[in-house]
Amino acid sequence: MNNRRVRVRFAPSPTGPLHIGGVRTALYNYLFARQHGGDFIVRIEDTDSQRFVPGAEQYIFEALRWCGLRADEGVEQGGPHAPYRQSERREIYLRYALQLVESGYAYYAFDSAQTLNGLRQQAEARGEAFAYNYQVRTQLETSLSLPPSEVQARIDRGDAWVIRFKMPENETVEMDDLIRGHIAANTAALDDKVLYKSADGLPTYHLANIVDDHLMQISHVIRGEEWLPSLPLHYLLYRAFGWADTQPQFAHLPLLLKPQGQGKLSKRDGDKMGFPVFPLRWCPADGAEEARGYREDGYLPEAFVNMLALLGWNPGTEQELFSMDELVAAFSLDRVGKAGARFSPDKARWFNAQYLHRCPGQQLAQALLPMLQGIGVSASPDRAAQAIDLIKERASFVPDLLPLTERMFVPPVSYDQKSADKFWKSDNVSNLRALRAQLEAMPELRATEAEAHVQQWVRDNQLPMGALMNTLRLAVIGVSQGPSIFGICAFIGKEETLRRIDAALSTLGDGRG
Ligand code: GLU
Repeated sequence: MNNRRVRVRFAPSPTGPLHIGGVRTALYNYLFARQHGGDFIVRIEDTDSQRFVPGAEQYIFEALRWCGLRADEGVEQGGPHAPYRQSERREIYLRYALQLVESGYAYYAFDSAQTLNGLRQQAEARGEAFAYNYQVRTQLETSLSLPPSEVQARIDRGDAWVIRFKMPENETVEMDDLIRGHIAANTAALDDKVLYKSADGLPTYHLANIVDDHLMQISHVIRGEEWLPSLPLHYLLYRAFGWADTQPQFAHLPLLLKPQGQGKLSKRDGDKMGFPVFPLRWCPADGAEEARGYREDGYLPEAFVNMLALLGWNPGTEQELFSMDELVAAFSLDRVGKAGARFSPDKARWFNAQYLHRCPGQQLAQALLPMLQGIGVSASPDRAAQAIDLIKERASFVPDLLPLTERMFVPPVSYDQKSADKFWKSDNVSNLRALRAQLEAMPELRATEAEAHVQQWVRDNQLPMGALMNTLRLAVIGVSQGPSIFGICAFIGKEETLRRIDAALSTLGDGRG
């Protein structure tokens, strides 16, 4: 790498909710910037007014915040190259488009939508795809075919025009990509892309992107593979502007693939298989269909980020769990693969479970408390944290915490029928009465001591430990399965434990033989 300061950008277009592939692009840019002590910039590319979707920009910012990807410069933060929203930079771009016309790299075109549609239909009738290229540009109404005075007259009278790039007829463009290595492409197959439109006074993506990357001194462009076909045009634009010496280095990230491995991961895959493809829930302003998000599905942002980091990059070791700091230290573009990365919903759940199990009860309590309030329970943060620590090994998602802790705060109002059929038998019930007396005799119910005492008592009296514990659990929390029952009894306290046993005895009776 040369000595240039590392400056990277995430440059989404606000055309809808940010796909998790876009979040991964932002993450890799962030990791690269942090690792090199450089700058991470967030630029909004909103020059395509046709595709603008209200609320999408705020969604992008919120998603980045949730993931902990703080920008050094951007729409929200400001910075030395402000504004960072392209629609607010519109007067910059015309100047650069005109520079290319003057130097012969671009030209005016006056074709109406009708003319272009006609040409498209004719090409289709011949079984070909229409391309606006060197074969047609001199035959159409362009500044390459019309006399300069006519061009000026049309502009002066306010006819609609666009500026198109004059793609070389037959040139091999040699390119380098940090992930894909050397790439060559011939220009014969490329068309003359529109760079600027008088109709809305806005540039297209290609012009605005190159001009801004240059002005913002971007050193590396790290973006999705879908932009690779645009790379020859971008190389040629840098050359046409005379900026080739300072153009950024490029890295095109592999696609995120469907769980089956073929094709790009889409919202439809998520809907079919029951997982989100967006970081946050998306509620479109126009009332169109909502989409689920990782945050609302109960994922922890650290788990989500860790999972995304490993979709396309591998650390070269067996390590799978990485904090953000560890990712910053370990990340490298050299270890980003060329082949698409297959998304696995099971792996995503696994990551979340790992993080949930390691997350302190105190932290998770912040999420549990409102859920408890929702069922009419007000608990202190400490109590909530204690309850969580007893059950979190059994949870994969934040919303799992409520059903797993609910019975610790609210005594059972009914008993699971299956468990009752299996365990509420007269032997077990009379053993439970004896166990109740043991518990009552203890001065205080502490989990480890109670467990040791009961185990000894069970051995001495040769009772079936498993069946007795399931019967006790059924009495105390209404089901026979769950975490260590002594932890729960200690949590609710001796009085409440005895009360719940009595309630079960009076509701369920003595049990059948
Ligand atoms: N605005 C483009 C997008 O939405 C940016 C592509 C690039 O990074 O050059 O993905």
